[in-house]
Parts: sequence; structure tokens; C-alpha cells
Amino acid sequence: MSAVLRRNSLDLDEVIALDRAATLHPFTSLHGHAHGTAETTVVETAKGSRIRDGAGREFIDGFAGLYCVNIGYGRTEVAEAISAQAHKLAYYHSYAGHTTEQLARLSGRLVAMAPGKMSKVFYGLSGSDANETNAKIVWYYNNLRGLPAKKKIIARERGYHGSSVVSGSMTGLSFYHDHMDLPRPGILRTGVPHHYWGAEAGESEEQFSLRRARELDELILCEGPETVGAFIGEPVLGTGGITPPPMGYWPAIQEVLRKHDVLLIADEVITGFGRTGAMFGCDMYGIEPDLITIAKGITSAYVPLSASIVGARVYEVMENASEKVGAFAHGYTYSGHTLAVAAANAVLDIVEREDIPGQAKTTGAHLQKTLHRAFDGLPIVGEVRGVGMMAAIEFVADPAARTRFAPELKVGARIAQAARDRGLIVRAMPHGDIMGFSPPLVMSSQEVDEMVAIAADATRHVMNEL
Ligand code: PMP
Repeated sequence: MSAVLRRNSLDLDEVIALDRAATLHPFTSLHGHAHGTAETTVVETAKGSRIRDGAGREFIDGFAGLYCVNIGYGRTEVAEAISAQAHKLAYYHSYAGHTTEQLARLSGRLVAMAPGKMSKVFYGLSGSDANETNAKIVWYYNNLRGLPAKKKIIARERGYHGSSVVSGSMTGLSFYHDHMDLPRPGILRTGVPHHYWGAEAGESEEQFSLRRARELDELILCEGPETVGAFIGEPVLGTGGITPPPMGYWPAIQEVLRKHDVLLIADEVITGFGRTGAMFGCDMYGIEPDLITIAKGITSAYVPLSASIVGARVYEVMENASEKVGAFAHGYTYSGHTLAVAAANAVLDIVEREDIPGQAKTTGAHLQKTLHRAFDGLPIVGEVRGVGMMAAIEFVADPAARTRFAPELKVGARIAQAARDRGLIVRAMPHGDIMGFSPPLVMSSQEVDEMVAIAADATRHVMNEL
């Protein structure tokens, strides 16, 4: 191996051999990767909504990386902004009041564009760490208010909030907990707002939403409101199945939270910056959050950056107590990293100039319509759902009886693989048999048509095998 490492350029087989020998990949079968029984894809270049691998194959990226490359791949304007900043000043920290022009500019514009009454922005590098920060801010806020028992955080079944210790505990998918000693104590769970699976016979969306709100109320009362600090939710459930909320869900939930003085954390990691067709999911559903989590779309993944946006009523308590308790003792070497905030400003210039949320609204309406046309009524399709540029097809053994396929049939994974064999990347969601779409927001309507046609062809292929 050492001879290979000294060479400037490696051929494809050498890259794969090195990677199998030395990279520990996230969410990858370790044995399959190390021993070459699972596919290793070397991604080389990308432009717009397409990526190309080392073997010369081209794929439509129906998932924008991991719901993140919203403005598409290969935007030279962003690369140039990063390069210009790197030449001038690549890094300085933001501890003890140090700042840069790009950092101050980004904070100002985020507070101005964020939904609700927001006050300040704290920066991290991933959605997971930003949710970790938001949990700490909930605990800090209630300690400062003299309410040290008010600490539990309620998260939803099938919510996804990251894979670090607290964020991974807030995540409500057992796949992310098993064998990892998660969830940690202090995280409570409430029901997922998915009408298709959760509603009782004859229950309307509104009735189902009110029932979920009642269950939340009962949970808070049972635990004691004096012990519950916050509720966290994605405006549109993401990794748990790409599921828009049923009618009336968010207003009903917010009423319960207000009644019990429980903070609302809106996890906008996927929905932020246009994906639903509005700038934020909170704008789409009339959510008034106390804390907001953003990542992914803020830089369209050109460099890592995340943030917690802190609402006015929380921040006011923090500032008022600061003379007494001392400096805010939380932060990372790379909080507000100079290159990341420069990239974010360049990306947000594009988001605003090209009206990326407006594009997502128009192309998203076309995506939803095209998916319904291609998938409604297929004998293995239970539900076609989505909003804006996020959508899912739920495959079931019997749509009339709403029964799932046996997990060992791996229907979702097989359809995703069949799509990949045909040049389309979609995601087999980790829960159930679900094909997820979350393409770049700049994808054209023609590419949407191409994407949906491949997905339908892949589905028919697996359907015939079953
Ligand atoms: N929150 C949500 C809603 C997410 O979808 C994700 C990532 N898919 C995260 C948090 C975690 O972000 P990261 O992977 O950057 O830690």
C-alpha cells in the first residue's frame, strides 16, 4: 500500500482498494465494504443535478446528495467565493467576540430571513451538532429561569435529528439506536403525524391531528409540565419517511406547547432554504419556533455549516443572566468558520437572486403531479406523498388492506437498486419500503420527467419479480 500512497494519481481499482482497506464509512455494511461484496462507488465529478463516477457512469441525483445540494453541483460562483476568502483569510475563530465581515453579514441576513421572532445565530458544522446545541440551550434557558427540573425533550417516533449522542437520542428510529446505547435518558417520545399508517378507521386528517395533539397534552401532563423543556420536530418529517404533516397538525401542537410553557425546536435541516416551496418549512405551515436548526441548504453542502437560530424570548433570558453566570460556555473551534460563512453568503445570494424557493414550488408541483400520474393505482403502491421538492412512494403488499411487505423481501432497497442500475439515485428510506426523492431544487421539469420515468420503470421491474 505504501508505494501506492506515494503516487500522485491513482487508478480506479487502487482508489477502491485503498478505501476498502482504510475508510470506516457511515451507514455502510462494514464487512460488505471491506471485502468487496457491496458496491463501492467512486464519485468524480458533478454538474447541475447529475453526478459521474470513476467508471464513467452518469446518474441523475434524485436525492441532492443527502437532501442538501439545493442549488445543484458545480456552481463556480460559490467555488470562487470560497477561493477568494481562502486567499484573504481562511480562518479565524469566533470566540470572545472575534468576527469577520462574512460572519456578521450571514448572521444579520439569517435573523432577517428566519421565521418567527429570532434574535441570534450560533454556528456549528452539522445538523447533529446544531441539535445538540439546541438541546443545551433548552437546559441552559430553564436553569437560568430557576426551573432546573424543566429539562425533558419530547421528540417524535420516526423523527430524525442526527446521530450524535443527544441528537441521536432525539431521533426516533431504532435503527439509529441499536447496539449504540441510545436513546439516553431525558428524551420522551410521541406519535408520528402520519395519517396513512396512524389514523383510525374513518378518522379525518384534522381529527387525527387533534388526537396527536391530545396525546402530546396527556404525555406532558403525565410527566409533569414542570419537567418538560422542549418539543422538537421537523416541519415535514424527513428521513422517517418524507411525510408532510396532516391538516391542522402544527396549529394543534403549538397550542399544547404554549399551554405548558414548552419550547418548540423546529428542525429545518432539510426544509430550510426552499425545499418545501417556501423559504422555511415554518413559513409553509405557520410554525412559530423558539429555536431553529439549519444545516444542509445553508451552504448547499459546498462546505459544512450548521446553525441554531435562537428566538427572542429564549435569548433575552440568556443575555439578562450573563452578567451573573459568565460567558456562554459552549462552542467549537470552527463555529462560524470563515470559509463556511463565505460559502453560505454566496449560496444565499443565489437562493435570493434565482428565487430558489419559487423554483422549488413550481418544479415541485410538477414533481408531485408526475409522481401521482406514474404511481397512483400500481398494485404495490400504498401512498404517493410529498410537498415541494421532497416526495415519497410507500410500497405495500396489499394497498386495500394496508399491509407491509415482509422485511426480508427488501422491496424498497431492491427498487432503489433497480433505479441505480438505470442511472437514477433515489433513497430507500431506512423505515419501511419507501422510495424517497429530494432532488436539487434547480432540477428542470424535463429532468423531473426523466427521473420519474426511470423510477417507475425500476418499480415495474421489481414488481414483476415479486
Ligand atoms: N436534522 C434533520 C432533519 C436531518 O435530516 C439531518 C440529516 N439528514 C440532521 C438533523 C443531521 O444532520 P447531519 O447529518 O448534518 O448531522
